[in-house]
Amino acid sequence: MRDIDIFRELQSEATDWRRYLHENPELDFQEYNTARFVAEKLASFGINHIETGIAGTGVVALIQGVGGDGPTIGLRADMDALPIVETSNKPWASKTSGIMHACGHDGHTAMLLGAAKHLASSRNFKGSVALIFQPAEEPAFPTGAFKMVQEGIMERFGISRVFGMHIAPGIEVGKFGIRHGSIMGSQDDFDIIVKGRGGHAAVPSHTIDPVVIAAQIIMGLQTLVSRKTDPLESLVISVTKLNAAQAYNVIPDQVEIGGTVRTSASSLRDFAEKEIAAAAQGIARGFGAEIEFKYLRSVPATFNSTEETNLAIEAARNLVGTASVDGNVGFDMGAEDFAYMLEARPGAYIYLGNGPTPACHNPAFDFDDEALPYGIGYWVKLVETVLGSERTGESG
Ligand SMILES: [Zn+2]
Ligand SMILES: [Zn+2]
Repeated sequence: MRDIDIFRELQSEATDWRRYLHENPELDFQEYNTARFVAEKLASFGINHIETGIAGTGVVALIQGVGGDGPTIGLRADMDALPIVETSNKPWASKTSGIMHACGHDGHTAMLLGAAKHLASSRNFKGSVALIFQPAEEPAFPTGAFKMVQEGIMERFGISRVFGMHIAPGIEVGKFGIRHGSIMGSQDDFDIIVKGRGGHAAVPSHTIDPVVIAAQIIMGLQTLVSRKTDPLESLVISVTKLNAAQAYNVIPDQVEIGGTVRTSASSLRDFAEKEIAAAAQGIARGFGAEIEFKYLRSVPATFNSTEETNLAIEAARNLVGTASVDGNVGFDMGAEDFAYMLEARPGAYIYLGNGPTPACHNPAFDFDDEALPYGIGYWVKLVETVLGSERTGESG
């Protein structure tokens, strides 16, 4: 039997779980039914170390291998859905209007449950596996991964390495993509309040016009990326919010500018914070105005460490063969909150193909259940690769 066929035996059961979760989506930090479903399934597999209520609705379960002492590795799935009206028209479409699994987290949860069932029965490894079912991957800071790390799951469960996986539309089902170093970007936001002196729009000479100053600041920020950063590094600064007066004939006292910063590395976040403040301050002072500046750090860049990325590639190749694993997949400027776990411990984040489906967060998106055995198989192979024991091919 080919390796993948072993995991196809779990496909119909995992498909039932996945479709049940898809029909019953829950938003961030409200995954009560999902967490109960997960904990009940884990218990039914004979796993007796299950902790619930972590970071609100998070669940962590420990499975000990029969190969003797060894480290504990963490495998993470996210459980939350999005505030989107589903248009997939699938028989298992969301039963809750305005909430849907548009990012495949239903599939992530089902795949980790499938791996849990297999691992709890085979236990063909040294040390332990911590199955991490996290709430709230999607929201702005603070996210579920951040809160679970803050609540000390790495120390409490003795986790030394962590691994994540996300479904990827555009990659063929049965294929994997990963890269060394940053694989997804960081996400920070900033606010600049330009404080001038308002007055009648017909008499601008009696004012310090914050609208004109704000316009100069916005243009000034454009050159930070083009003139002050290495062209081989990835930094995006986008101004997305602008609030001035509500009347035609009033020059306001102040203008509020807001925007977002995306980078591929932490050093670029420090650079962006310092340089945006300096540029805004310099321009404002030149006009006799002041600024108030806030830089709000959210998700860091998702950084794959060398050794763990090699282990992830090896595990995926063991499952589907060398030709089906792209070890140099493109960097994506989107943010992923698994990055917080990768800040706490070394690890790796991999993409699993979902075929030519609509993109994630699209109302017509659906997880492809044909991907389930590949995701389950990857988790099991990863455990056997990282925590390999002398005992092979046994079960029970
Ligand atoms: Zn998402
Ligand atoms: Zn997602």
